[in-house]
Amino acid sequence: MTVFDAAIIGGGLAGCSAALHLSLRGASVVLLERGLCGAQASGVNYGGVRQQGRHPAELPLSRRSREIWGRMPALIGTDCEFAMTGHLKLALTDRQMTELVTYRDTAEAFGLALELISRDALQRRYPYLGGGLAGGSLCAEDGQANPRLVAPAFARAARRAGADIRENAEVSGAWPDGDGFGLRVGGAAEPVRALRLINVAGAWGAKVASWFGDAVDEGVIAPNMCVTEPLPVFMGPNLGVCGGGIYLRQVPHGSVIFGAGLGVADRDRSRARPLGEVTCEAARLAIDMVPRLAQALLVRTWTGIEGCMPDGLPVMGPSPSTPGLFHAFGFSGHGFQLGPGVGAVLAELALDGTTPTPIDGLSISRFHPARSDQGRSPMARSGPDGGMQDRQDNQGN
Ligand SMILES: Cc1cc2nc3c(=O)[nH]c(=O)nc-3n(C[C@H](O)[C@H](O)[C@H](O)COP(=O)(O)OP(=O)(O)OC[C@H]3O[C@@H](n4cnc5c(N)ncnc54)[C@H](O)[C@@H]3O)c2cc1C
Repeated sequence: MTVFDAAIIGGGLAGCSAALHLSLRGASVVLLERGLCGAQASGVNYGGVRQQGRHPAELPLSRRSREIWGRMPALIGTDCEFAMTGHLKLALTDRQMTELVTYRDTAEAFGLALELISRDALQRRYPYLGGGLAGGSLCAEDGQANPRLVAPAFARAARRAGADIRENAEVSGAWPDGDGFGLRVGGAAEPVRALRLINVAGAWGAKVASWFGDAVDEGVIAPNMCVTEPLPVFMGPNLGVCGGGIYLRQVPHGSVIFGAGLGVADRDRSRARPLGEVTCEAARLAIDMVPRLAQALLVRTWTGIEGCMPDGLPVMGPSPSTPGLFHAFGFSGHGFQLGPGVGAVLAELALDGTTPTPIDGLSISRFHPARSDQGRSPMARSGPDGGMQDRQDNQGN
């Protein structure tokens, strides 16, 4: 019977990137996806590739991932429409502008350069913005990409590198078995066997973790998304505001995609839908931010199912209970930008037992303080700028 070096549960961007990075290292890999690769959150998100505003616990991973976004044509054979348009975070008040100044210094310590832009310069450089803004912060190396393309492209590249990518293959149970793991897949009589197990099951990640006693409270969110008809191209950077709220970007063919607020998700049935009243409020906020959108036709709204942890940060790292098991789920609205780097780091953890990318602040153990963290809170490990304010700034796409 085949015993794979690694089995991966979940064919979102995190799982497909892990399959590719493991295969490139010569490991034998099987990826098991319940539906189609990239059909859940990884394929229906807003498409923001944003480092600016990320929590310090997430920034090293975000930096690692950004490096991979820049070499995707060489790595997977396509850029997935990744464009370095920049990400402009807008302050509505002087107080928020002060927060942007503080965050600029935080980001600098991680090698992320941000340019502060005054109220007047903002109107000169981006005349399509509405009034009443106090200033902004531009991250020139951030941008946007087409989410429909990315996970499938990683899956194809992983397959070319030798990974066994199985779609329509639901894992209904997994357990430690000898020096590895057994997995029950669909109606197959024989379990799949692997030496290591990677849980990247997205909004269903906590359920998989619970099979091993790693119980955590993973909620779900369904960001409410909208897209307009194609318009003449006028927008530059991907736009967001301090504290979350509205976010907008214009794709190369001219449509403007924007999001604000949440729709509803039914995780058990894998169904989610946007809400009419949330869409109307999002449209109002979008028009406030970019007044010329008042003339645009809204053509479609949608949402997707995203796992969300209580502190708004993902779970990533080794299982505290089961050697050889690694978790990465609950990306809380950030996993599209992070996904390529998540796969690279998971491959290192699975094959080397360690990674040069600091991810300590994302450990699942922060929700089990008695087990391995001696009562230290995650924010204590993330530095003095952790806490609710930082969590708010980490929102939006
Ligand atoms: C509407 C929306 C907008 C967003 N906007 C952004 C953004 O602009 N920027 C950003 O960085 N992030 C954004 N996100 C978040 C981002 O999309 C996710 O964090 C990321 O895609 C998560 O990737 P994943 O691989 O962990 O999970 P998923 O893409 O959800 O993949 C998990 C996969 O696991 C499979 N699975 C689950 N259980 C099993 C099982 N038992 N057996 C087999 N397979 C299983 C599922 O079918 C699924 O395909 C957004 C999310 C949504 C929903």
